Amino acid sequence: VKALHPTVSLATVYKTLQILRELGLIQELSFPQGEARFDPYMKPHINLVCTKCGSITDLEDRATQEIIERVATAAKFATLGQRLDIYGLCEKCRKKAGTAPITPATRN
Ligand SMILES: [Zn+2]
Repeated sequence: VKALHPTVSLATVYKTLQILRELGLIQELSFPQGEARFDPYMKPHINLVCTKCGSITDLEDRATQEIIERVATAAKFATLGQRLDIYGLCEKCRKKAGTAPITPATRN
């Protein structure tokens, strides 16, 4: 007789997350610090990632979905998932930093 609540090892959890990721059911967000997060929010959206405090803000934008659909259609590509990240400083960290500009300096 099998136990009703078998112990699930952490390795099993990670394996399951990996399978879900491969199926495009979740998105893995990796960061320079090496940690991985799983984002269950699969609707086309933009992740605003603060490189200072690590906060992630989901920004839903209709235009984002239209661009992804247009690009995928043009390339005859069957999309399983997508991710759009914008890295920078959130409003809180930007205010703390004081003089940090909202947009990066233009290149010369
Ligand atoms: Zn921040």
